[in-house]
Amino acid sequence: MTSPLPSVDALLRDPALADLLARHGHALATRAIRTVLDRHRTTLRTGTPPPAAATLPAEVLAEAAALAAPTLRRVFNCTGTVLHTNLGRAPLSEAAIAHAALAMRDPCALEFDIATGRRGERDSLVEPLLCELTGAQAATVVNNNAAAVLLMLAALAGRREVVVSRGELIEIGGAFRIPDVMRSAGAKLVEVGTTNRTHARDYEAAIGPKTAALMKVHTSNYRVTGFTAAVAEADLATIAHAHGLPLICDLGAGSLVDLTKWGLPAEPVVADVLAAGSDLVSFSGDKLLGGPQAGLIVGRRDLIEKVRKHPLKRALRLSKVVLAALEATLLAYRRPDRLAQELPAFRLLTRPLADLHAAAQRLQPVLAAMLGASWQVGVIETAAQVGSGALPDQSVPSVALACTPAGSSGKALDRLATRLRTLPVPVIGRIADGALLLDLRALDDEAGLVATLTAS
Ligand SMILES: *Cc1c(COP(=O)(O)O)cnc(C)c1O
Repeated sequence: MTSPLPSVDALLRDPALADLLARHGHALATRAIRTVLDRHRTTLRTGTPPPAAATLPAEVLAEAAALAAPTLRRVFNCTGTVLHTNLGRAPLSEAAIAHAALAMRDPCALEFDIATGRRGERDSLVEPLLCELTGAQAATVVNNNAAAVLLMLAALAGRREVVVSRGELIEIGGAFRIPDVMRSAGAKLVEVGTTNRTHARDYEAAIGPKTAALMKVHTSNYRVTGFTAAVAEADLATIAHAHGLPLICDLGAGSLVDLTKWGLPAEPVVADVLAAGSDLVSFSGDKLLGGPQAGLIVGRRDLIEKVRKHPLKRALRLSKVVLAALEATLLAYRRPDRLAQELPAFRLLTRPLADLHAAAQRLQPVLAAMLGASWQVGVIETAAQVGSGALPDQSVPSVALACTPAGSSGKALDRLATRLRTLPVPVIGRIADGALLLDLRALDDEAGLVATLTAS
């Protein structure tokens, strides 16, 4: 019996697929053809009639295009979480993108002192700027804040003890737990106090001959409220320094500026934490800073030198692309009055609610037309999150398009979420209270969203 499906060779010679080989090469073209034929063979066995011969080339072209396309794709962040870790955290500024592109495209003076013609140090690209913006004596940068914490502990406390409050033994997403990081760094964790209350005397009592440092961890993704007590940085610094020990601080998000000036919830400012007496402070590049993924360490020169000399520093160093983006991001902080224009993360977080309402009014009919009569699309006020563990108990007011099914099919919301994810540019919302919400706080490209919603 002859197969109702053409052979791979026949399809490779099909004039309708003449472009395919030129565009994708023989290996990928063959793979696309095999995938499409296999799919039809499977459905033929279930009794489905064979496809019309004329439809196969189009299927093969679509398959080849899908195979050739990158896996990392752009999406619309309508989750209501601005610095969404799973969606890439902070969007970069145009200046950072341009500077990173320069570093990618052309040779650049990464470890080269143009003035002297001698070998340079890559940290020096951002160190003076970080010192200027935080008041630190010295600074260094690594791959992310988890790496920064690991490196600080390894360099300062290897085989010795670090004292941390039980109220600060945090786990953040992606298996970063302070006790585990401590172990990986070769330091011994000494827990003091209780989950809700830790006092100065607890730290005092824990200090002994093996103590290398006191550590404060910013409880970024949760809050202990009620009957609580914690020791402020300044008091902790006094205790540490009285014993000749450094105070290390993992700030998590950390901010270079006082966010309350933009009407945002307060988050510790790096310069304040240093001024309070912390000797080393680490924070993320892609959280509230609004830059690329990086871990920034600022503080005392002698301690930064130790950190820089540790072998792990080389293993955790930043690429030229990230360094370039980070430098451009930091440069924006020289003009704090323009941060909301320059840095997208700031722009999104500070957009007035009225702007979001106006956008919602424009988008509502577009979405309603796309979804048809079986859905109701309303506009509601929501509580958006900064994200990335920053300011967890405080939200930023926002506006969302709320899609509710006309019937009460439980699966309808999930099906709609799936449908939105299969749009040309996937739209990622969230399901809450019987509705699928498209939150507009983190949406930067309204025209793009309209285009993708109307493309279907
Ligand atoms: C986010 C965070 C980290 C990890 O930072 P990354 O830059 O994601 O590696 C570490 N500690 C705290 C307190 C954090 O909030």
